[in-house]
Amino acid sequence: MSLVILNFHGVGQVPRNTDDGERNVWLSETYFEAVLDLVCDHSHVRITVDDGNCSDFEIVLPALLRRGLRATFFLCSDRLDQPAFLSRLQVHELQAQGMSIGSHGITHVPWRMLSSDHLQHELVESRRALEAVCGIPVNSAACPFGDYDRRVLNGLRESGYRFVYTSDGGDTKENNWIQARTTVTSLMSLEEVWQLMQLGTSARRQWNINLRKFYKSLR
Ligand SMILES: [Zn+2]
Repeated sequence: MSLVILNFHGVGQVPRNTDDGERNVWLSETYFEAVLDLVCDHSHVRITVDDGNCSDFEIVLPALLRRGLRATFFLCSDRLDQPAFLSRLQVHELQAQGMSIGSHGITHVPWRMLSSDHLQHELVESRRALEAVCGIPVNSAACPFGDYDRRVLNGLRESGYRFVYTSDGGDTKENNWIQARTTVTSLMSLEEVWQLMQLGTSARRQWNINLRKFYKSLR
C-alpha cells in the first residue's frame, strides 16, 4: 500500500534556545490542528513526530486522540526526563494511548558524521535504553536531520532495525526498509500540505526524489 508520511517536531511556543535553523519546524497549535484535520480525510497518510519535545505529550497526543489518529514518536534516549523533553512516565502514557516509539539516537547528532564505533553506539545503546523504558522491542529509527548514507543504512540493518525513517519526501510503501517522510514546516501553506498528502507525486518530482535517495544510499 502506498503511503505519505508527514513528519512533525515541536508544537506551540518555540523554546528560547532553539537554533534559527530549527525554528521553522515548530508549528503553532492552530496550524498543527488544521493539518491534522486534513490528515483525517486521507487514510493513506501516516504521522511521525521527532525529537521527544514536551509538546509531544502536552499538545500532540491530545490533538491526535481527539481525532482517533495514531503516530510514531522518535525519541533521543539521553533527552528523557531532561527539561523541555518527555519524561519516562509520559512515554509510557504515549504507549498506553496506542502510540509507537522509535529511536532518534542517543544525543541527536548527524549519524553520517560519526566514526563507525560512535555510530554503532548511538544505534545500539539508544535502542537498548528505549526498550528498557518501553518494555517492548524498538524496531524503527529516524535519522537525525534526515542525514544518512550507505554506512548508516548498513549500521542500522546490522543493529537489527527493521525500518529507517528519512526526510526525503514523496510517497513510500508500507513495508519498505526506507520510509521516506515529508517534514511539515511553518513556512508551508495548508494548501501545500494538502498537495503533499496526495499520492502519485508528479512523475518528475518523484524522479528527483528517487535520484536523491539513490545517491544518499551510495555515498
Ligand atoms: Zn531530530
